[in-house]
Amino acid sequence: MRKEDCIFCKIINGDIPSNTIYENSDFKVIMDASPATKGHVLILPKEHFKDIYDIDAETAGKLFQLASVVARALKEALHCDGLNILQNNGSIAGQTVFHFHMHLIPRYEGDTVTLKWEEHSVEDMDVEKIRQDIRKAL
Ligand code: AMP
Ligand code: ZN
Repeated sequence: MRKEDCIFCKIINGDIPSNTIYENSDFKVIMDASPATKGHVLILPKEHFKDIYDIDAETAGKLFQLASVVARALKEALHCDGLNILQNNGSIAGQTVFHFHMHLIPRYEGDTVTLKWEEHSVEDMDVEKIRQDIRKAL
């Protein structure tokens, strides 16, 4: 997808409106248009990175610093009972907007959010080979 067609780039440029919470030279924090719960926000880097494979480590580090600040603000403002941080990469993982973004989803007793997966036995996997392959790639 071309950067010019990116909905989050358009939000960052002010070409389309958003409910902005915070902005600095690197990031914009907006309310999600279809929130999972009350106070679901997105942190967008201003630069167009497609996904986690595309973003540089320095920006990713700054983004998580900001996430910790926003998380505390959500807790203070909304008195949520918990919070999930979610960041999808690739369609298979649920990414629908291909401009890197981090979800902060406040959680409340009795909310309807599900993020549960089926657990598998490690017996069915060659864990040692997986471990070695990842170590080599690092
Ligand atoms: P993902 O599925 O991880 O790519 O998340 C994309 C998120 O962007 C979804 O939660 C959408 O509700 C949200 N979204 C899409 N368009 C807009 C928009 N114009 N303003 C705010 N949030 C949006
Ligand atoms: Zn973009």
